[in-house]
Amino acid sequence: MRNFPNMPINATARLAVVAVAGVALLASAGCSKLFHRNASHQSTGQTAVTRVAAMQPVDLTKYQPNESGSVPILMYHDLITTGKQREMKYPAAQFRKDMQWLYDNNYRPVSLTQFAQGKVDCPAGTSPVILTFDDALRGQFNYTGDGQIDPNCAVGILDQMHKDHPDWQTRGTFFVLTDEDSKLPPPFYQKEYAQGKLEYLVKEGYDIGNHTVHHRHMRHMTADQVAYEIGKAIDGIHRYIPNYDVNTLALPYGEWPKKESWLVSGTSGGSSYKNIAVLRAAWRPCPSSIAKGYKPYEIERITPGTGRQQSVWWFNYLKKNASDRYVSDGDPNTITVSQIAIGAVDKARVAKLGLHLRTYSGTQMMASK
Ligand SMILES: [Zn+2]
Repeated sequence: MRNFPNMPINATARLAVVAVAGVALLASAGCSKLFHRNASHQSTGQTAVTRVAAMQPVDLTKYQPNESGSVPILMYHDLITTGKQREMKYPAAQFRKDMQWLYDNNYRPVSLTQFAQGKVDCPAGTSPVILTFDDALRGQFNYTGDGQIDPNCAVGILDQMHKDHPDWQTRGTFFVLTDEDSKLPPPFYQKEYAQGKLEYLVKEGYDIGNHTVHHRHMRHMTADQVAYEIGKAIDGIHRYIPNYDVNTLALPYGEWPKKESWLVSGTSGGSSYKNIAVLRAAWRPCPSSIAKGYKPYEIERITPGTGRQQSVWWFNYLKKNASDRYVSDGDPNTITVSQIAIGAVDKARVAKLGLHLRTYSGTQMMASK
C-alpha cells in the first residue's frame, strides 16, 4: 500500500465503482444510533431479566461514524524475504510497510468473524480493515531454529505492530490447509510446531478459517463432495484445536460450486458445518455487514499491490471518496450512521444481530433503537 500516489479514477472506472460499491456510496458521513441487545440473561429470583448493553456515547464533534461504509478485506498468501513480488509471494518488507501505512492512515484490523456478526470493535474514528492469509504457508507463521517466532513472517510482523501500537489488535484470518489428508503438508509447514501455532493464533485473537481439505476447484463437485471438502477440513483443524468453531470459508481459486447453499451448511460423515461468511478472491471492498448490499456468501477480497483495482488503487479510492469508507463509532454493539446513510442500512439484519442502531445529523444524535 505505500503512499497512495494520486490515482486518477477516470469516469469509466468510477461508474464501475459506483455499480460495485452501490450502497456504500450513498453513505455520507452522518450517523445513526444503535440499539443493541447484548443479551446477558440473569436470574433474579424466579424472574429472568434481559440486560441490554448500554450504547456508548460518541463525540460527534470529533468523529462522524459511517458504519454502513465499505471495508477492505486484504488477501495475502506467502511472505518472502528475498526476491520481488510475484504471484502468491509477497515481500515481508513490503507487508510491514503495508501494515504501517494502514496504521498511519487510521485503519485497524478487526476479526472477520466479528465483522460478519456486525461487531466491529476498532476505536472510534478509525476504519476497519480485515487481513486474510490463505493456504497456511510457512512465510505466514514460521519459527526460527532457536524456537522463536520469525520476525519476518506475517505473525511476527503483526505481533510487532501490536507491541509498537497497542491500539492495533492482533487480528486476521488464516484460511488453513492441514495434513488431514496425509499426502498434504502440515499447516505452516513445520510439523513440530503445527499445534502450537494454531493454539497461539487462537490465543492472540486471530481467526482460523476453512479452505477445504484438498484445495480443489469445486465447480463440478456434487453436493456430497462439497460437504466432504468442507467437513473434512474442519476435522483437520480439530485435530490441532479440538473445539474451535470454524465458521468462515475461503473458496479455493475463488470458485463456487453449482449451488451456493452447499457452502452455507452441511454434514459429511460425523462432521457438520455452518458458515457465516464465504470469501472469494475477487477485487473490491466489501459492503458493511449491516448494509443492504452485503452478501455474506459472496464476500470479495482485494489483492495487495499497485496494479489497477489492487490495494493501492482501492485505498486511493476510499481516500478520495471518504463517504464510502467505514468509520467506526467505537461501540461494537451499536451501528451509527448519518441520517443520509440510513437508507443503506438493512434494519432487519441489524435487529437480527441484536445491535442498537442510531442516526445523527451534523453533531446531533437524532434517533436510536
Ligand atoms: Zn488457496
